[in-house]
Amino acid sequence: MSNPDTDHVNIHINKPDVRLADDDVSRVLDALRKQTAAWEQHKGPARIGDKALIEYTITSNGRVIADTFGNPAEHELLSNPGPDDFLSAKLPGLRCGERFEFTVRRTKRRESDSRRPAPGKYSVHIAGIMRRNEQKSRQALAALFGRKTIRPDTLLREIRETMLARLDILIRRDVKHQLFNALYARIADNAGSQHPDKTVDHAQYRASVADQIRDFIQENDVNLDYSRVENIISALASRAEDPESIEKKYQDDIELQFRVEAAVLEDQIVELMLDRASVESTPVQYQAFIPAATNSTPHNPGNESHRSSIIEISSATKCGYCSNSKCCQYITQKISAPRSKSDFSFLLWQVSHENITIFKDDDGWNLMVRTRCTHLQPEGQCGIYESRPEICRSYKNDYCEFEGPAEEGYELCFHDYPELLEYCQKRFKRWNEYLASQ
Ligand code: SF4
Ligand code: SF4
Repeated sequence: MSNPDTDHVNIHINKPDVRLADDDVSRVLDALRKQTAAWEQHKGPARIGDKALIEYTITSNGRVIADTFGNPAEHELLSNPGPDDFLSAKLPGLRCGERFEFTVRRTKRRESDSRRPAPGKYSVHIAGIMRRNEQKSRQALAALFGRKTIRPDTLLREIRETMLARLDILIRRDVKHQLFNALYARIADNAGSQHPDKTVDHAQYRASVADQIRDFIQENDVNLDYSRVENIISALASRAEDPESIEKKYQDDIELQFRVEAAVLEDQIVELMLDRASVESTPVQYQAFIPAATNSTPHNPGNESHRSSIIEISSATKCGYCSNSKCCQYITQKISAPRSKSDFSFLLWQVSHENITIFKDDDGWNLMVRTRCTHLQPEGQCGIYESRPEICRSYKNDYCEFEGPAEEGYELCFHDYPELLEYCQKRFKRWNEYLASQ
């Protein structure tokens, strides 16, 4: 019978189906162009597209109501100035140093007129004209994409790809929040407490969801996919000036490593839970989705975008996220290094038995028996924790089987008869004759 707290089949998720239109990509391109524009002083007359540095004084009924006090303000000369953009309409054709005046008449203001210039007499001095240097601007834009030059179609394609990659992250995050909220809501329902869309304690929310994740890991035998951890670290390193130093930093700093592991494990859980949840696709426009998805509302515990992961891996918590307490599932016994055919023949006999592995690591040859410790409790705790043997006490969990099977570091490893036989046949030219003579 399924456990109502951990049965994820009945969770309902609205997965946003975000439509990325060409206009969305063009808008980002415009913003990047603005951001990377290289401006230079221009001595000639101003034209549309230039920026004017203007100093002005506004007087009303003979009283100064605004003054730039010699700190010029930038004004872009727009190709389609609104009816109230007096400056864009008057500046074209004027040069640095010129002055002009105009009056903004008082009209009945509506709320939507809040950006309309204040009424009064404007006295304007053009302190400078700035013009975009198109070549330098193009180079600066290309440099953003790590290139010296970039073709317009490549630029649009790369922007689209970057936007899609970001969308993917935000959609995953959105789905994750929905899932975790649903998990919490279920617990809250059972406990008669508040739902996550009401004000609840963050710590309570995180602890409760983390508990369910732990149960899910144990019930479904979820193992950390360490290759994903390595891929993330490589991707982070590849963006740095000195990739090797970043990789080394992650190797040396166990806390950093744990943080990436927590994020990967959480992603794995979300993917598995999603497979079992009922998922509905909801179409949504990019422009509507992005602000909602990136908004961090710290009072809503379901919105954890300002946090890293619900799972927090540390030396103290790691074993709770380890499915089946892997290091308590086997014993090893050091054995003499086999040299002769007879030695290997003996190992062939041993490895022919169930649950036996023979391996060689930095310390020499070992026989491993895969057998669960009788003290290991169903929930993963040690039944004799206070009096556990010395080898268990001294075992460090910084890098252990949680990150991947120990055999990844073995020089040689034989799980069964055929594997060891193949090795013997390669090592001893006359192996088959030897066997036949016995
Ligand atoms: S020490 Fe490592 S392998 Fe052992 S239970 Fe903890 S996390 Fe799992
Ligand atoms: S004694 Fe405890 S810590 Fe040691 S192997 Fe058994 S269950 Fe694990």
